[in-house]
Formats: sequence, structure tokens, C-alpha cells
Amino acid sequence: MQLTFLGTGPAWGLPELLCSCQICQTMRRKGEKRRRSSFLLKGEEKVLLDCGPDIKEQLEGTRVGPDIRAILISHEHNDHYMGLDDLFPLKRTKARDEFQPIEVFSSESTYIEINRRFGYLEEFGVIKHTIVEPNRWYELRDLSFMPFKTFHGDSAKGSMGFLIQFSTKSSQRRLIYTSDFMEIVGWDPGLKNPDYLIIQSFWLNEPVQNRPKHMSFQRALEYIRLFEPQRSVFLVHMGDGDSVPGDPQNRILKKYEAKDPLRPPKGNAPYPIPRCQQEWQEIVETILEDYRFPWRIYVAQDFQDISFI
Ligand SMILES: [Zn+2]
Ligand SMILES: [Zn+2]
Repeated sequence: MQLTFLGTGPAWGLPELLCSCQICQTMRRKGEKRRRSSFLLKGEEKVLLDCGPDIKEQLEGTRVGPDIRAILISHEHNDHYMGLDDLFPLKRTKARDEFQPIEVFSSESTYIEINRRFGYLEEFGVIKHTIVEPNRWYELRDLSFMPFKTFHGDSAKGSMGFLIQFSTKSSQRRLIYTSDFMEIVGWDPGLKNPDYLIIQSFWLNEPVQNRPKHMSFQRALEYIRLFEPQRSVFLVHMGDGDSVPGDPQNRILKKYEAKDPLRPPKGNAPYPIPRCQQEWQEIVETILEDYRFPWRIYVAQDFQDISFI
């Protein structure tokens, strides 16, 4: 089983449109890009986790064939399902009557929103939607998955994470995909000790007011402690909302003040705010070392491949 991070950015991608904050400027200078949420799992079947508006560029950028079997959608925000219509041409790559609709799985609230916008995709046989219930298992050839409920505010009532189980040559592996969220609703002990965890890290520091109901790295540390992943953690959906000290753009709407920023155990100045991939990875590693956290945490990058063994 292989995982490709197709998009590790927030709702409007990074750098954000015409934004001149220090984070976006630094990323532009380094040629870095974080596209909208989508991840590709490749085993016997190809399965997408979310399907954002950059999906066309993302799939063209991999050597994946046109046979996508299924999509798990985490919630009803644009950046997680707006690419569904872009998959229509996959049907057109097949001879008449040869195409099997792509199976789409989501909660009921998410289904209602998707159907309002893309109901015709079912009518044309491009997708086939199945509503899934939290804490129940579903089978998809060589993998099975269990959705669980997450809290991501009133505008995403259908928000869910997924525990995904699959076999490798050597054993069974468990991967947790949590998308945008702030809390888990009703902790299922079965979520403990996955092999791998994909978790949002929208800011480095938890803001004074978490209005968009996202996960900061600071808060994610509590969830990593709760999940206790056995192998690796991957940080995704990073944003540009941390205030970088001295940046005149800190006055703009999306910049948030940190409530009690992460700082070294000896209580010195807070850790610097990461502005690019390398700074993110360095700061995460410094925090892990300073606090002697035992986890392996990687800041995911677009088009990075992970092979599960
Ligand atoms: Zn999102
Ligand atoms: Zn969202």
C-alpha cells in the first residue's frame, strides 16, 4: 500500500492568492506550493481521501491511471469535495458501458451538500454515493475503514475522520486520517495506537480564538498523545494564519494571535513561526527533542510518496 500526499494546504492553497504575508512570500521565493486536500491510497484499488479543487493538476502530476475506485470525503467544505466534477472525464476514458461509477463515501450531512451541487454526477453514473455511519466498518477490496465523528464547527456538521485498515506483505496496518477538526466526538478506544496518523496542523500555535475550528500543532500534540501512533505522524493542511513577529501583515484578517505559544521547557522566548517546509520540519523536530516526545512527526509535502511496509 502506498500513500501520495496530493495536497497538504488549506482551503485556498498556499501561497494564498496575492498574499504578501511573510509566510506566503517565503514560500513563493522558495517555489513551494501546498495544494488543496487530497490523498491517494494505492493498493489493489486506488482510493482518494478527499477530492479538492486542485484534483486535476494533482492526478495529472502522478503516474496514476484513470481507474479510481473510491473516495472517502471528510466533510462538506469546498476544499474537500469540489474536485468531484473534474473526475467526470475518467468516465470518458472508457468504452461505452465499461465504466464502473466511483464509490463516494461520506456522512449524511456531507452527502446532502454534495448532492445539492453535484447530484448530476450520480445521474450520469460518474459516482455512486454511500452514506456511512460513525463507528461502523466498511469493506473496499483490500482495505476496510471505520468513520468516526469529529467537530469542525456548525458549517461542517458532517465532519468525520477515518480509521483505515489494510494488509502489507508483513502484517496488518492501521492508518488514521483526520481532516479539519478541533475535537473528536465520542472517543472510540479502537482509535488508539494506529500505525500512522495524518493530522491537520493549521497553525503552529493555538490561537486566542479558534473561530475556524481547526487544529493547531500545539493542540495536535494533545491528540497525538491520545492516539499514540506506533510509527509515524504526518502533518497536513497547514495554513498561513500564525502571526510572524515583525510582519506588517499581522493586521490582516486571517492572522491570529497565539493564546499561549509553544516555548522551550525552560520558559524562554516562544519557538519561531515556521514560514516554509524546512522551517516547519526543523521547528517540529526541535520541539520533539526539547520535550523528549517519542513520536516521529513529518511535515508532509505535496507529491510525497510513503510506502507502508
Ligand atoms: Zn479544509
Ligand atoms: Zn473544513
